[in-house]
Amino acid sequence: MTDAPSSHPGWVEQELYGWGRYPRIGSLVARPESQRGLVAAATSAASNGDSSSGLIAHGLGRSYGDVALLRNGRVILTRRLDRMLAFDESTGVLRCEAGVSLEDLLEVFLPRGWFPPVLPGTKFVTVGGAVANDIHGKSHHADGTFCDHVNSIDLLLASGEMVTVSRDQHSELFWATVGGIGLTGIILAVEFALRRVDGPWFETESIRIRDLDHFFEVSAASTGFTHVVSWIDTLAKGKRLGRGTFSRGRHAVGNNQPVGKGLFSKLPLTVPIDLPNLVLNPFTLRVFNEVFYRKQWRAETKGLVHFEPWFFPLDVIGNWNRGYGPRGMIQYQIVVPPDPEHRAIRTVIEGIATSGMGSFLAVLKEFGDNAHGGLSFPMPGVTLALDFPNYGKPLFELLNRMDRVVAEAGGRVYLGKDSRLSKEMFQQMYPGWQEWKAVRDEWDPTGRFQSELGRRLGLVQGPVDKAEEAA
Ligand SMILES: Cc1cc2nc3c(=O)[nH]c(=O)nc-3n(C[C@H](O)[C@H](O)[C@H](O)COP(=O)(O)OP(=O)(O)OC[C@H]3O[C@@H](n4cnc5c(N)ncnc54)[C@H](O)[C@@H]3O)c2cc1C
Repeated sequence: MTDAPSSHPGWVEQELYGWGRYPRIGSLVARPESQRGLVAAATSAASNGDSSSGLIAHGLGRSYGDVALLRNGRVILTRRLDRMLAFDESTGVLRCEAGVSLEDLLEVFLPRGWFPPVLPGTKFVTVGGAVANDIHGKSHHADGTFCDHVNSIDLLLASGEMVTVSRDQHSELFWATVGGIGLTGIILAVEFALRRVDGPWFETESIRIRDLDHFFEVSAASTGFTHVVSWIDTLAKGKRLGRGTFSRGRHAVGNNQPVGKGLFSKLPLTVPIDLPNLVLNPFTLRVFNEVFYRKQWRAETKGLVHFEPWFFPLDVIGNWNRGYGPRGMIQYQIVVPPDPEHRAIRTVIEGIATSGMGSFLAVLKEFGDNAHGGLSFPMPGVTLALDFPNYGKPLFELLNRMDRVVAEAGGRVYLGKDSRLSKEMFQQMYPGWQEWKAVRDEWDPTGRFQSELGRRLGLVQGPVDKAEEAA
């Protein structure tokens, strides 16, 4: 990431990318220190005359693809809006600025006996990003998504006005902002409920999974656990298809041993440079999956663990995404609706196993019943998340084939991790997109809020689209 001064005061030219480090896109970037500074930056962008360029918020950049990027546009980094605004000790309801991270929440509130309502696979996510991608975690079947715990959102609109939206106040804009990938406005602050816990400890069990049918059996038998996740070997085929390890847990009750500093707070390991592309290739992938699976076999366990390595196994290595080399990586997360024969998920896992381009990390989990419509990703069914080195064309062709399987089954791709889905596939996967767009267009009639992903999927019009339309 390089900064260069620009002719626009308060803005620098900078190349940005998501966690997958693909694509990389240069923009004008501002990093306001306060809500007032953010409003001033947004206003200055609007008054600069280049209204076609658009604006998007960018949190901690933990989305993988291009959802928080904007070519020929302006990006506002929100991380410095990190103030806690109000906390009710009796209910756990917190109001904080959108740049507060889940890591900040854990550091401040866990020692007081409060836990974020939903945690994804990393703690380096802002509250604004959590709302804009309506993030889910291991507890979706028990707790729903992050936004299920949100009372209200303070939003900076395209008009420059600020509005508070909730289930009762401008509810259509509230629901369009839930999972609205930053395209309805800039979230300034969020009010949501934390959960009371006795301490940082989790009762966990890990079970070795023989194949896909076994995964669904164990998943069905895990309703007594609030948190579940499974890691699978994407190179295993035939009778071993879907083999892996199933992990389940719940907050330990009555155990409040001191928390101390988070185990990984200091990120003891980091990948300081890009590893060559050769480091992660089909051979190392096969070795990784074999070793991981064998290790889990030996490690089939029950026990009390600190929540942090259990929730965030990858956070222990800072910048682990650099291990994928300069070409970056593609993360592909899908969900398909329940099917007694599990046809679509089987086809996807088989397709990946036979392609030889298996994923280093593959996570499988059943979602609960709760879904929010619009652009929100979670819906009832089974979700699979895969990380691929960016192999280029052959990988994109494979994923295009998988998209068709997923769409035909009534499933969808997670936009917060996407960098390549086509507009046609998107429209099939998100049948509520037109209603979502109608709300968005009503509140942003001139198309101020834009993103690379939004342009690619036809949700907003970029300068090229506008020029074509005018011609
Ligand atoms: C290792 C790892 C594990 C992950 N595990 C999960 C998981 O289990 N479940 C899950 O759901 N996701 C998961 N994710 C994805 C991550 O939780 C989401 O992409 C999240 O939205 C990232 O938040 P961020 O602050 O980095 O936002 P960014 O990536 O910077 O932005 C994400 C979106 O939010 C918008 N946005 C950010 N701030 C604001 C704001 N203030 N106002 C309006 N819009 C805003 C951006 O415009 C963009 O559309 C994982 C990511 C990683 C790297």
